[in-house]
Order: sequence, then structure tokens, then C-alpha cells
Amino acid sequence: MITASPGARTTPATTHQADWRQLWREAITDANALLAMLGLEHLASRLPADDAGFALRVPRGFVSRMRPGDARDPLLLQVLPQLAELDQVPGFSTDAVGDMAARSAQGVLHKYDGRALLIASGSCAINCRYCFRRHFPYGDEMAAAGQWRKALEHVRQDTSIRELILSGGDPLSLATAKLEELTQGLAELPHVIRLRIHTRLPVVLPERIDTAFQRWLADLPLQKVVVLHANHANEFDPGVDAACARLRDAGATLLNQSVLLAGINDDAEILAALSERLFAAGVLPYYLHQLDRVQGAAHFEVDDTRALALLEALRQRLPGFLVPKLVREVGGEASKRPL
Ligand SMILES: *Cc1c(COP(=O)(O)O)cnc(C)c1O
Ligand code: SF4
Repeated sequence: MITASPGARTTPATTHQADWRQLWREAITDANALLAMLGLEHLASRLPADDAGFALRVPRGFVSRMRPGDARDPLLLQVLPQLAELDQVPGFSTDAVGDMAARSAQGVLHKYDGRALLIASGSCAINCRYCFRRHFPYGDEMAAAGQWRKALEHVRQDTSIRELILSGGDPLSLATAKLEELTQGLAELPHVIRLRIHTRLPVVLPERIDTAFQRWLADLPLQKVVVLHANHANEFDPGVDAACARLRDAGATLLNQSVLLAGINDDAEILAALSERLFAAGVLPYYLHQLDRVQGAAHFEVDDTRALALLEALRQRLPGFLVPKLVREVGGEASKRPL
């Protein structure tokens, strides 16, 4: 016989879901605290003042996938401010792709045929040191209902748009109720057959893919593609696998884009392991991006000759469907440019 003290409650583990907003708020934002969690206090003297002008931000779950005591950990290096970010390097600017200001002002970016990209939110759960976002701390004004309407009006008037891409920032930083509001507007756009979501949240805060979100995605009467962003196999753990499984169960095709980053994944073994790990989670590699040349990120750059050699090495060791396309974004072109 099982006895329980008065007032004791048992919550079946299977029905419990962590509140992703709470986890979002509990992210680490102090570089010294992060170093202390990893037993790397001795690196504190190498931190730039004021996080080099771009706040450190990393969810605790992502920190738990870092190797304690390893100053070269590939996940740590993606988020830890470095003195090298202060270097002014010719060719690296604060507006690397040339249209970032226009992006945040208009909310919709229609550069490529058939696809319109909506800046759904400026927020991210993690601050990646190599990201153009470090120079565009745009707020969340795009999430306002009025902005949705303007962006959707553009899409309504252009019937050549078959695919709507939600990007940012991270569009899944929005509450599911906000996403519902947006996709209700899609019912008036019969020419849009596909919704694509560009998000790093299933990797860095997999709790975001909760039951309510999964239901929203599953109920959308559209083709669905979710493009994740992971740069290293170590970013995966059972929680991320579960989030990917929930996305697939909701009917989404899962792809991944990575950024080629010196000291993090510029190695054929590491890139091959990433592709294999992605496939194990039900995700296909899509793009491997050459770095956008943003000021403060020059130390991450891998030159094109090496990038092409890495790609060739990948082709030799992997099936074709696990080799990503190596591309660079060049302002004003009709597509991403293959290298
Ligand atoms: C990258 C991007 C897309 C998507 O390009 P695909 O090659 O289809 O993945 C669409 N619109 C804009 C503005 C982009 O930057
Ligand atoms: S937009 Fe993507 S790469 Fe940039 S900070 Fe957010 S999650 Fe990182």
C-alpha cells in the first residue's frame, strides 16, 4: 500500500512540460558566471569589457552540453565574448549583407523569386558571436499586429510568392498565440503553399517545441519546412532529438544550416560528424554558410580555398544527401551564391 502525506501531489513526468519562457529568462547573461560554471575562472582576464558591445546570452541547457574545463569547447566559443572582437579588420563592416537596416524597417524582404522572408521577431534565446545581429539590436516591433498586416498585404498582392519564410532574429521567440495570429492571415493567401521557419530554438532551447506549438504547426494546412541552425554535433542531446521528433510528427520537413567557423567546425571530421548527427535526429544538412563579414567576427573566418577543400573532403566521406551546399550571401544577387 502506498501512503502519501496530506497535500502531497504526484505529477506524472510524461505530462510535465517545462515553461520555455521561464527557461528563456533564466539564460546566463554574465560571462564570469558562465566561466565559473565550467571551471574556467582563469579565463576571466581575457574577457573584453562590456562583452565587446554585444551581450552574452546562452540558455542553461546549452551550457550543460559544453565540456567543463575545456577553453576550446566548440559550443562555448560560439557564445563567449573574445578580445579579438575588438579588432578592426578591413572588409568587415557593421552591415555585412547590405540590407539589414531595410530588413528591420520593412519587416518583409522579397529578394528571391517565389519566396518572401518575414522578419517575425528581433529576439533570440542565444547570442552567437559571429551573427550580424550584434550590430542590429532591433526590438520586437515586427511582432505587432499592424506590422503583420503590412507584411501580409505585400504577400497578398504578389501571387508569385509561393513560400513564406519566417525569420528574424528567431521567429519562435514569439508566443504561440502570436504565431496563430499571423497564420490566420495566411488563409487569405491561397497562392502561398508553403511555410518555412528559420529557427535556432529547437537546438538551443528545445523546450520551446511544446504541445501547444506542435498543435499549431500540425494544424497548418500548408507544406511545412523548419530550417534549424546547428554548427557542431555536440549541440545535440536527447532533448534536441525529442524536439526534432515533435516537429516531424507535426508534418515538418527538417533541414539545417550551419556557419563555417574557424576553431569550431572547420574540420572535415567535425563537419562529417555533424551531418551524421543531424541525420540521426531526422534532419538533412542544407546550407553551410561562409561567414557574413560582420565587424567583430573576423577571427571566425575560413578562407574560400580551405572551405572548398573541406567540402571536397566531405564529399569523399559522406553520401551526397549528407553534404551541405557551401554558399555565401552576396547583396543584390538572385540567390545565395554557391562557392
Ligand atoms: C536566404 C534567403 C532566402 C531563402 O533562400 P533559399 O536559397 O531558398 O534557402 C529567402 N529570402 C531571403 C531574403 C534570404 O536571405
Ligand atoms: S539570428 Fe541566429 S545566429 Fe544570430 S544570434 Fe540569433 S540564433 Fe544566433
